[in-house]
Amino acid sequence: VLAVLCSVTGDHAGAGVGRGTGARSRMKRDLGIATQNGLLDLHYQPQIRLSDEHIIGFEALARWQHPVLGDVAPDCFIPVAEETDLILEIGRWVISKAVEDIASHQNRGQLAVAVNVSPAQFYDPELVDHVGRTLKEHDLPPELLELEITESMALENEEVVCAGMAALHDLGIKIAMDDFGSGYSNIATLKQFSFDRLKLDRSFLADLPTSEAGQAAISNAIRMGKGLGLEIIAEGVETGSQLDLLRALDCDYAQGFFYAAPMPIDDAMAWLVQHDAAGSAKFGGLRT
Ligand code: C2E
Ligand code: MG
Ligand code: MG
Ligand code: MG
Repeated sequence: VLAVLCSVTGDHAGAGVGRGTGARSRMKRDLGIATQNGLLDLHYQPQIRLSDEHIIGFEALARWQHPVLGDVAPDCFIPVAEETDLILEIGRWVISKAVEDIASHQNRGQLAVAVNVSPAQFYDPELVDHVGRTLKEHDLPPELLELEITESMALENEEVVCAGMAALHDLGIKIAMDDFGSGYSNIATLKQFSFDRLKLDRSFLADLPTSEAGQAAISNAIRMGKGLGLEIIAEGVETGSQLDLLRALDCDYAQGFFYAAPMPIDDAMAWLVQHDAAGSAKFGGLRT
C-alpha cells in the first residue's frame, strides 16, 4: 500500500487524476491530524569530525508513524505536506522540537543540530522571527543551529533566498547546502550564496573507493568546496573504506550508517556517551 502511495507522491506530473488522488488526499488529511496531535517525531543522526572522531552534533530527520500504514518515510510525506500550508506548520514544529531537544542536552558538551527546510518555509516571512524566538526560548547559542537547503531551492528564487540567508546569518545561525552532487552541482551557485557548509550527497560515495572516476569527482568537489571556504560533510557513509578515502581527501565531517542510523533523542544521547567512551579509550579523552 505504502509503495503505491509513495509512487503516487513522487508522481507530481500525474497527480490529480486516477486512483492515486483518493489515497493522496487521505494521506494529506492523516498528516494534518498527525501534525495537530503531536504524532510526528524527530530522529537524530550523529555528525562526526574526521580529524578526531568528535561528535559535533546531529541532523534532525522527521518521522511519521501512520496508525495503519506504519512508518512513512519523509521522502514520501514531506512532498505531500509541501502541496499545502501544512509544510509551514510541520517545518515550524521541526525547528522548535530540534532546538528544544538539543538545548536540553548541552550538558553533554557543545552539540549542534541541523534541520532540513523546505522551499515554502524559506519563503515564509515568519521564518526568521520563528528561528530567533525559538533560540531565545530554549537558550541555544545560534551558532549551534544549522538550516539545510538544497541547490535547486536556492536557484528557484535567488533574490529571496539570498535575502533570507542574510537575515538568518544575522541571527548567527549556519546554513548548509544539502545533497550537493545530486543536481546541477554548480560552482556558480556555491559562489553566489554564502553557505557555511557543503553536504556531499551520498551518490558521491556509491561506488567508492573502487571507481577512479568516482574518486576524482569527490576529490574535486571537496577541493572546490574548501577553496570557497566551506566546511565539507559527507552524507551516507556506510563503509570503513569510504571513510578512509574521505579522510585521505581531507573531508571535514561525515555522517552515515557506518556510524549510526538516525535514532530517537534518548538513543542518540546514549550512543554519544558510548562513542565518547570508546574514543577516550582509543585517543585518551575527546569531549571537553
Ligand atoms: P537528507 O536531508 O539528505 O537526509 C539524509 C537521508 O539519508 C536521511 O533519510 C537519512 O536517514 C539517510 N541516510 C543517512 N545515512 C545513510 C546511509 O549511510 N545510507 C543511506 N542509504 N541513507 C542514509 P530520511 O530520514 O529518510 O530523509 C529523507 C529526506 O527527507 C531528507 O534527505 C530530507 O530531504 C527530507 N526530510 C527529512 N526530514 C525533513 C524535515 O524535517 N523537513 C524537510 N523539509 N525535509 C525533511
Ligand atoms: Mg539533510
Ligand atoms: Mg542530503
Ligand atoms: Mg534530501
